[in-house]
Amino acid sequence: MDFSKDKLNLKNTYSDLPDCFFKKTKPTKVENPHLIYFNNKLATYLNLNIFENDLISNYFSGNKLLENSNPIAQAYAGHQFGNFTMLGDGRAILLGECKDKINKLYDIQLKGSGKTPFSRGGDGRATLSSMLREYLISESMYYLKIPTTRSLAVVSTGEKVYRDSINEGAILTRIASSHIRFGTFEFGKNFCSNKDFKVFVDYVIKRHYPEILKSKSPYLELLKLIINKYIDLIINWIRVGFIHGVMNTDNMTISGETIDYGPCAFMNSYDPKTVFSSIDNQGRYAFGNQHKIAYWNITVFAGTILHLIEKDKSKAIELVQNCLNKFPSLFSNQWIKMMCKKIGIINPTEKDKLLVSDLIRLMENHKADYTNTFASLTLNKYLNNSLFKSEDFKIWEKKWIERVKNKEKSYKIMQKNNPLYIPRNHLVELALKNASSGDKQSFDNLLELMSKTYNYDSKNIELQIVPKDFDKTYKTFCGT
Ligand code: AMP
Ligand code: MG
Repeated sequence: MDFSKDKLNLKNTYSDLPDCFFKKTKPTKVENPHLIYFNNKLATYLNLNIFENDLISNYFSGNKLLENSNPIAQAYAGHQFGNFTMLGDGRAILLGECKDKINKLYDIQLKGSGKTPFSRGGDGRATLSSMLREYLISESMYYLKIPTTRSLAVVSTGEKVYRDSINEGAILTRIASSHIRFGTFEFGKNFCSNKDFKVFVDYVIKRHYPEILKSKSPYLELLKLIINKYIDLIINWIRVGFIHGVMNTDNMTISGETIDYGPCAFMNSYDPKTVFSSIDNQGRYAFGNQHKIAYWNITVFAGTILHLIEKDKSKAIELVQNCLNKFPSLFSNQWIKMMCKKIGIINPTEKDKLLVSDLIRLMENHKADYTNTFASLTLNKYLNNSLFKSEDFKIWEKKWIERVKNKEKSYKIMQKNNPLYIPRNHLVELALKNASSGDKQSFDNLLELMSKTYNYDSKNIELQIVPKDFDKTYKTFCGT
């Protein structure tokens, strides 16, 4: 079926914004597009009724343009590792927007689709392995019930991409509530006229947070919403042990969806200092730092809308400061609520904080696996390891059982909050290595496993075991 003829009814609301915010740019055609992955379920959800592989690979490599598409590269800036930089879509192109079954708007973006006016010396391309990585991790995040961009397709290009080695090229089609970033606000505030910037901010509110349109102070409300969205997001990351790896302001969406799966990874042994990114030498984006960085990034974001919140600068600063000051206590309240759910407790009391911190300390001392510890508690089937065998754990368990009393009720809560599986680093690497050379079995297996990550119904649950010392030398990389 050819869905280009009105089937898709693509919208272009972003390219109706003032010119400053984008550059019209067509994808660069590729030599030999070949469909590697297509997310049928997501396609159906988005009403993309397309079945023929040839057509899919032509559309989602950029060789053929979807009807109504007005392709653009989006302008943005950002603070990378604390420093302000001009960026923009250097290898991505927004094809347009489509609506899901409940009329919500989604961006359809090609990533790796050739040079744009923002490429700054880059080749505009992406490797097959890195696009498969984004597909695998973003879909895993979806199964883990964490706000995220999604992956619709991976198409190999038949062209080589030159990095440290020679790689096969590919294009990922990414679906997002939008690709508007904190960095888009930074760009607009610094490089567009005040009038254009206000048009943009109003567009963002209308698109993402229409509920505050009629508020007396919508811009301050926007800041409050962003604070809440990011507290929710980071708490969810912590819940499953996710480390984003490169929380620059250009990688923070205004929708609160996780974006840009570059150097991200999942923590195995519990240690808040865990970092896998090859360039994060100082541990700026370590597991246990993520909420502090989110706060830092939101402060940068708040600076861009200060003048809209209130004309009088000192009054605006006071209003913003009051909101930002609430972040630490809001975060710790949500954090303790979430951690308590992981041990089956809702409505935590002061005393429960001790129960949580004691368990965390035990996990850290015994270098216990974060996911497996909570999964074991949820299964009521303890692993044969030093944590569960220790006297300290037995003391903790006694207090825990006394506290939860109704264990059945608690197990139900725990099952919803403790995943059985995460995309373990060693499994991700194996899946990517095999899939890049044409063997998709381990990739498919891992995705299938992730789709059951909260499925405690099965009788034969086996927890994931990580090869000893794998993480000691494991490194992840940006871009590529
Ligand atoms: P990322 O690390 O993916 O968040 O990208 C940071 C910035 O570098 C963004 O502006 C990207 O568009 C740009 N970029 C990354 N890889 C490439 C590439 N191969 N060619 C051109 N621009 C790139
Ligand atoms: Mg990025």
